[in-house]
Amino acid sequence: MFSLLLAAQLAFVESDARIAYDTAKGLVESYTPRESGSVGSRRAAMYILDTVSSLGADVRLDSFTAKTPKGERQFTNVECSIVSNPSNKWLVVVSHFDTKPGISCPGANDGASTVGILAALAARLSVVRPKNVNILLAWVDGEECFSFYGQSDGLWGSRHLAAKLKEQGSKVRAVINVDMLGDRDLKVMIPSNTHGGFRRGILKLAAQKKVSDKVVEIDDAVTDDHVPFMEEGFKAVNLIDFEYGSAPGRNDYWHTPEDTMDKISVESLRFSGELLAWIIERLS
Ligand SMILES: [Zn+2]
Repeated sequence: MFSLLLAAQLAFVESDARIAYDTAKGLVESYTPRESGSVGSRRAAMYILDTVSSLGADVRLDSFTAKTPKGERQFTNVECSIVSNPSNKWLVVVSHFDTKPGISCPGANDGASTVGILAALAARLSVVRPKNVNILLAWVDGEECFSFYGQSDGLWGSRHLAAKLKEQGSKVRAVINVDMLGDRDLKVMIPSNTHGGFRRGILKLAAQKKVSDKVVEIDDAVTDDHVPFMEEGFKAVNLIDFEYGSAPGRNDYWHTPEDTMDKISVESLRFSGELLAWIIERLS
């Protein structure tokens, strides 16, 4: 009984980070490019479905069409629900998986890193179901815009999911979007256009865990998949390392052919996964 109780602790250890790394590697090696709302992104969605399913989680596709600057396109989100009690509120954890259209970018960090983290988390959470919160893990298509972010360019998958949750009247406790969290030289940033109370709560948690040097708030606003959830009135944050480059402070690997698997590390994936596990534990 005692060991069962111990086993019920949510953790994210090196073996989880290796699952995350291998999942990201498979996505990058076999499903690049996977541009917003393309055949490539649909195939990538199937890969995520198969991979997460083989890890023992209950996972499904949600396809929809939306207007884009290139005409109407079909998008495919992947969802995994971990329900411990139907009356619980939902914690929604989101990562995009698509790559930037029109450029050569494998998206190892920008997309694949957090796809892998969510895959490993899905496996963990399917065994350790947090008692007081239900979890929706969502791998969304179409974060990347064709030219400039707007109502019909970029953030298609998250806008679709946010509108769906709103329409269904889902009781959402909070939304966490994660992006670019596998960088070898990791610093997790929380942009200014996020929910203030939730942002401060995560910073406080980071201080308690003695990792304040690696989890910081920044003055800049970042356009990412948390924005549609904020716009629908949900409490949302974005965790992103927006300094991804050849030297500290630079972002010169972002949206370039340099965004490759050798730039991300198992250790950074473990840190980011553990941070998410702490937040989930705290909210449950
Ligand atoms: Zn991007």
